[in-house]
Amino acid sequence: MTLAAPERPSAGAPPRTMKAAVFVAPARIELQERPVPSVGPRDALMRITTTTICGTDVHILKGDYPVRAGLIIGHEPVGVIAALGAAVTGFEIGQRVIAGAITPCGQCYTCLDGTHSQCGGKLMGGWKLGNTIDGCQAEYVLIPDATANLTPIPDHLTDEQVLMCPDIMSTGFAGAESGHIRIGDVVAIFAQGPIGLCATVGAKLMGATRIIVVDGSPSRLAMAKSLGADLAIDFHAEDPVAAIMAATDGRGVDVAIEALGTQGTFESCLRVLRPGGTLSSLGVYSGKLTLPLDAFAAGLGDHTIITTLCRGGKERMRRLMSVLETSQADLRPLVTHRFPLDRIVEAYELFANQRDGVLKVAITP
Ligand SMILES: [Zn+2]
Ligand SMILES: [Zn+2]
Repeated sequence: MTLAAPERPSAGAPPRTMKAAVFVAPARIELQERPVPSVGPRDALMRITTTTICGTDVHILKGDYPVRAGLIIGHEPVGVIAALGAAVTGFEIGQRVIAGAITPCGQCYTCLDGTHSQCGGKLMGGWKLGNTIDGCQAEYVLIPDATANLTPIPDHLTDEQVLMCPDIMSTGFAGAESGHIRIGDVVAIFAQGPIGLCATVGAKLMGATRIIVVDGSPSRLAMAKSLGADLAIDFHAEDPVAAIMAATDGRGVDVAIEALGTQGTFESCLRVLRPGGTLSSLGVYSGKLTLPLDAFAAGLGDHTIITTLCRGGKERMRRLMSVLETSQADLRPLVTHRFPLDRIVEAYELFANQRDGVLKVAITP
């Protein structure tokens, strides 16, 4: 990168251009040179120090989830404040911060009604970064409504320690919270990818005394056990529904968390649920999802089915970081691979194909 004439020549000012991962077309994400965005009154410019790739970004890459060509993707920013809009209060340039994957405005009717993820009354309206506005797989990102969305990182927490907060930890924990897990509950969690693993940690924190996890990967099942699962079921080795019913003496579980987004896992969640139990769904489904009436008890089972998008905003991020700060969870083992931003295309290749036991990749500009 050469800088012949810096836009703002003052010391420490951001450069004029930056490297960024851009969605070009399905199956094509490229590293491009893009202008560093200029800051509007309510924005903050964040210099990214660490970010990561999400399963949702892989859906974008494959063309399953449409975004506009030319969009910078990524929604998990960890960095430093590089510039602040005139209306942003309570922060300083140079402060280490994160922002959530969901960046609510904090002022619209849905935000004020407590459903920040659906900001603006639009479906998934709170998910802006790397969806409807440029994202953070770049050297810099603009954080909208910065007063509502920036959260200082406690000094002794490293970037990698807080890297799961913007999305994976927030979403996984929300699966446990939306399930209204009670002390003493038996909980089943289907799929132990990064979000499912965080749901396992969340279920433990919520007071579940027995956590049963299902996955097809021995390394993910081992990780789940190290993070608090009591029983790990490999669906290649046994039928998970039968195994869970046997393990609960035919009673079923109080809460089943779906963390994949397939007909099979959704249906299995229903089939292991006790009458009156809650199915907390985190998966992103495609095609068609059908409700088998026998598993649904023909609608007479007092079941609750609840869906949750990731939660965002600065108070959510503060709470999640407080869990890490007080050592009640340590999600560092989820970061299995590291790449510089220059090699992000390679990181996508590894992550999208789940090679080499990858869970999450840390990307550093
Ligand atoms: Zn995500
Ligand atoms: Zn809003």
